[in-house]
Amino acid sequence: MHTKSAKTVVIDSFGGPEVLRVEERPVGEPGPGEIRIRHEACGLNFIDVYQRTGLYPQQLPAALGREAAGVVEAVGEGVTHLQAGDRAAYASGVSGAYCEACVLPASQVCPLPDGISFEEGAAMMLKGLTVNYLFGRTVPIARGDTVLFHAAAGGVGLIACQWARDEGINLIATAGTDEKCALAKEHGATHVINYQTEDFVARVKELTGGKGVDVVMDSVGADTFEGSLDCLKGLGMMISFGNASGKVPPFDLGILAAKGSLKITRPTLFGHIADHETCQKMAQELFAKVLSGAVKIRIDQRFPLTEVAEAHRTLEARKTTGATILTV
Ligand code: NDP
Repeated sequence: MHTKSAKTVVIDSFGGPEVLRVEERPVGEPGPGEIRIRHEACGLNFIDVYQRTGLYPQQLPAALGREAAGVVEAVGEGVTHLQAGDRAAYASGVSGAYCEACVLPASQVCPLPDGISFEEGAAMMLKGLTVNYLFGRTVPIARGDTVLFHAAAGGVGLIACQWARDEGINLIATAGTDEKCALAKEHGATHVINYQTEDFVARVKELTGGKGVDVVMDSVGADTFEGSLDCLKGLGMMISFGNASGKVPPFDLGILAAKGSLKITRPTLFGHIADHETCQKMAQELFAKVLSGAVKIRIDQRFPLTEVAEAHRTLEARKTTGATILTV
């Protein structure tokens, strides 16, 4: 099959969900190192919001979306890990996944095991690979260590709860409503805190007998940054990996010394999966967690691709739980 043109979501300017526009785009032949893929579903991620608003600037006009699953239609020269007809899924460093079909670099596209559906594939690659590097490749975290994880009922969050449970890590989870807290608990969080109604710093101190946690994983950003540092024990590690409430403002590094020789890192998934072999290995580890039943991919919202603006509104309004996909 050769898809010659495809509905594709593009923006011509940065702004609110109203700047998202669907257009019909030609889909060509894959060049060296590329594949052409026909999507069955696309993943929605908060990074897409940052790209739409310009918080993460890019050249305009731009196609959005970083995650999808579907069937490979054609492979370019030099691509050996995929062939036409393969089921595949990806999180890509190149945006443009909000579409029916596209040509993209093959390096980060992974063969999708038969036991994982296209929808699950589209919902889990970016979020699940993120959880993989957060827990396994950023700072050593041993069984019995305690991690504070914010926004734990979201797409990344519910995978993180289950991953932590499977690895024997105590997860103190925060979320913005009691219902979201219950969901995080159900998915494996050891303790939950509604950070809209409770002082999460005081509660973390209480839960850890005044000691604080070994690691904080903070994707909320501006609203939680300082409080998160206050939740760490001496020599603890702050992983600041997102900005759902806005960017962390510039700060004096001396604060890390004052609060107990803390460490801090600001990673991105795309640094971790830039190398082809590493990306494929991380995907295998993620697939193993899902196929074993340790991690279930929860899709709580589905929107047709053409209703992408509504999907963005819902995500930004904090009305989603688990993963959201765009159906094609
Ligand atoms: P989520 O499904 O987790 O949605 C974001 C959640 O953030 C909301 O549901 C909400 O949960 C919480 N939140 C807190 N404050 C705000 C606010 N002011 N506006 C909106 N939401 C807020 O999204 P994803 O799973 O797609 O991503 C989770 C986070 O992880 C994002 O910040 C994303 O950028 C980051 N990320 C980073 C990566 C990296 O490698 N650096 C890779 C992947 C994701 P609640 O109501 O419970 O507070």
